[in-house]
Amino acid sequence: MQTVKTLQMLRTALAHLRGNTGSTVALVPTMGALHEGHLTLVRRARAEADHVVASIFVNPKQFGPNEDLDAYPRQLAADAAMLEAEGVALLWAPDVAAMYPEGFATSIGVAGVSDGLCGAARPGHFDGVATVVCKLFNQVAPDMAFFGEKDFQQLAVIRTMARDLDLTQPPVDRIFGVPTVREADGLAMSSRNRYLSPDQRAAAAALPRAMQAAVAAIDGGGDVADALAGLQADILAAGFSSVDYATLADARSLATLSALGPDPARLLVAARIGGTRLIDNLPVNRTA
Ligand code: AMP
Repeated sequence: MQTVKTLQMLRTALAHLRGNTGSTVALVPTMGALHEGHLTLVRRARAEADHVVASIFVNPKQFGPNEDLDAYPRQLAADAAMLEAEGVALLWAPDVAAMYPEGFATSIGVAGVSDGLCGAARPGHFDGVATVVCKLFNQVAPDMAFFGEKDFQQLAVIRTMARDLDLTQPPVDRIFGVPTVREADGLAMSSRNRYLSPDQRAAAAALPRAMQAAVAAIDGGGDVADALAGLQADILAAGFSSVDYATLADARSLATLSALGPDPARLLVAARIGGTRLIDNLPVNRTA
């Protein structure tokens, strides 16, 4: 596996990788601090494409002024070893100056799908995500790209951007979502889980448990508002300090739902434990 840090080196390495055989390239964008969730995306990508390009870039534009940009874990050498062991061909690891050179002035905003949920709690976050992912798509020009359903709203934002901007590398139907990978106790894997103390880590497993109970209640025909109120109470009782949102939404538009309809729905939660904000989501009426 080759690690490249400049656009020039990336272009040379990609040309070499693609050769003149028309081989396919999959992109797996990450912020590093890799875990089994990320590696599952890589394995899916390897199964679908001839070559996998992974990127590691802690994108300052998607962090708010009081968020964890400086504390965010950085471990490039360990991450590179994990990616190499998974058969990744190329690691694109630009620094901030390579991604956003002096005078960088453009921002991509995806209205609607960015506005609620995490977008409401983190103003500007999804503009930063859309901007960097659009750049990564243009830099790597992959045939396909893989993202986790763990960040369900992010996936919706990226698909909307690709559709609205007529992107072709990758086209919107080659942007794949991969189901959330969980720890043995159900907690969704996240680079931010390492911020949790042992007590907080133990308490955090109550989040997916409470969400499953709410999904069962809603799937069973229970009142949505009651289920969401119960969910919120369960999360707070488990030791979380606050719930940013606990929402039932249409799985495509992310519009809030007050009752289950015929279309796929999603239960989405963001909650804080200690200083750490955790997000999770589950499908509701998946088979409807
Ligand atoms: P991040 O490094 O947190 O920006 O995540 C990079 C990619 O990995 C994103 O597409 C995430 O949705 C995905 N990802 C993160 N955690 C998980 C997980 N537990 N299961 C599946 N995908 C994940």
